[in-house]
Amino acid sequence: TAEGVTILGTGAMGSALAGELLGAGHPVTVWNRTAERAVPLATRGAAQAETPGQAVIAHPLVVMCLLRAGSVHDTLTPVAAELRGRTLLNVTTTTPNESRELARWAADHDVTYLDGAILAVPEMIGSPAAQIFYSGSREAYDRFRDVLDVWSNGTYDGDDAGAASLIDLALLSGMYQMFAGFFHGAAMAGFADLSATEFAARAAPFLAAMTEGFADFAGVIDGGDYAVPGQQSLEFSDLSHIVRASEEQGVDPAPVATVQELISRQIAAGHGSEGFPRVYESLRRPAAQA
Ligand code: NDP
Repeated sequence: TAEGVTILGTGAMGSALAGELLGAGHPVTVWNRTAERAVPLATRGAAQAETPGQAVIAHPLVVMCLLRAGSVHDTLTPVAAELRGRTLLNVTTTTPNESRELARWAADHDVTYLDGAILAVPEMIGSPAAQIFYSGSREAYDRFRDVLDVWSNGTYDGDDAGAASLIDLALLSGMYQMFAGFFHGAAMAGFADLSATEFAARAAPFLAAMTEGFADFAGVIDGGDYAVPGQQSLEFSDLSHIVRASEEQGVDPAPVATVQELISRQIAAGHGSEGFPRVYESLRRPAAQA
């Protein structure tokens, strides 16, 4: 028989997680602070608990999908006794340290802790496009695999409870900086009478092609030798002309100026003839030591 699951928090994401489990035939118990938000799931067959405590005792696996770490603490603290001996899977977005803190709280209360980080929008849950990273208890990851597999092809990233969140936020950091780069480029090209739509049509294939560079950069970073021949040098990568072009048009150069600053730090430290991926070292070390 399919594993029963409790879901605390039936907002957009919690509802998607619960809905997929119902569709796959799992018994599901839901609780939401605002009860009416859980009614559509109850209509589809979920048991709706009136309190977090009632929800927690229904099943061995308790999934938290609230807004922030603070709301997770507020909701769990009063039901610590009911949680004892169960598994807590927290998919609320938390920083790595917030996840580690929740893992410590769980350990102190004899609760098995697994952290989850969802790299998907609710509509993607249950489709191959959804990615969810897990870290914390390997035992929990293995034991509840049938449940996790309903949502996505999950990845287990180790026993540090903060790892899943760290990887998720690292990917999102890259995404947002790419978007900021797009906005900055669109603002510049706007002064050449290119609409943002026209700029997007040129930028998307170009930037997609540029992602092929990641693997080469990664090879240099992992190899640890930034002087390997055949690379674009840091000196060649000087972006001051792009910063100036942006300023000439009255476009704030902040996104590209930040990149230029990271490059300059390496050149100032005498590494100008080495490869562009050495920028990684500007990020890994405090400015004073670069
Ligand atoms: P929603 O705003 O749709 O839902 C938020 C949920 O948190 C609701 O159930 C809300 O209850 C509950 N909540 C908020 N504050 C408290 C509190 N103090 N005590 C109890 N419950 C509380 O957000 P999502 O469902 O979209 O997001 C949920 C989590 O999933 C977030 O951490 C989000 O970062 C993460 N996530 C969401 C993604 C998305 O695309 N939506 C993508 C990846 C991760 P109430 O209905 O009573 O307000």
